[in-house]
Amino acid sequence: MHILVTNDDGVSSPGLRALAGAMEKLGTVFVVAPEREQGAVGHSVTLHKPLRISPIDTNVYAVNGTPSDCVLLAVTKLMRRPPALVISGINRGVNLGDDVTYSGTVSAAMEGTLLGIPSIAVSQAGTRNFKFKTAAYFAWRIAKIVLNRGLPDETLLNVNIPDRMRISITGVRLTSLSRRRYEDPVVEKVDPRGRKYYWIAGTRVSWERHADSDYEAVRQGLVSITPIHVDLTHYPVLDQLRSWEELLTRGVLTRRRPSTRLNTVVSRTKDSSKRTLSRKQASVLKKSHRMIRRRPT
Ligand code: MN
Repeated sequence: MHILVTNDDGVSSPGLRALAGAMEKLGTVFVVAPEREQGAVGHSVTLHKPLRISPIDTNVYAVNGTPSDCVLLAVTKLMRRPPALVISGINRGVNLGDDVTYSGTVSAAMEGTLLGIPSIAVSQAGTRNFKFKTAAYFAWRIAKIVLNRGLPDETLLNVNIPDRMRISITGVRLTSLSRRRYEDPVVEKVDPRGRKYYWIAGTRVSWERHADSDYEAVRQGLVSITPIHVDLTHYPVLDQLRSWEELLTRGVLTRRRPSTRLNTVVSRTKDSSKRTLSRKQASVLKKSHRMIRRRPT
């Protein structure tokens, strides 16, 4: 069984090594990770420069791209058959709530999910002196279950581990994403030449607290597992806004009626000598014709 391990902290990160070590108990591990730190790159892929894969060690490769690039290259180019699991981490620091959309760690797992492979993101709470032992242990336990039972379609697991020794972990909780509030998310300063610059570096002030949130679980010393669906469609709202279809279509249809009739007139004026329209009329018609064509379908 082949397991793909990646991250966003870079190929030399100790969290990545700890995770790869834990996965070795479950199968043959391929590590394909960014050659350097790629925190907060989200789900971006590299489209405007060539990507290179550099072998570092046996089954360990560095890529000069994003976490999503790594997963895509590993699955489509490096590994002879798709891995049974994509696991991303162990990230230095939590990936909770709204932050998952910025997270390279979570996005790597999302890329795996989009490729049809069961995928997990693992992050470790803390700010410095990370010890990844507890996280590696739970990553191994969760991965074992995922390999045995699989995951629902289009769903990845976002796992966050409290900064605690294994024996002080109070349990494991299935959670939902929390909402956080930053106070002054953008810091304004002045550079030595007197020009303003900005730094996105808000102090975390508050999280909306609800009992089943990922934030609350980690705060209480529980391992948090949030199932994340890659289909971001808000289905209840889809139904609520259905009436907009008619509202927005109405204007388009009233424009369309004259233009379809007159299009034939415009095209006829092009090749026939029989000019039935003034230049001004024709240009108005052409314009309305363009508007119809641009209408998204
Ligand atoms: Mn990171």
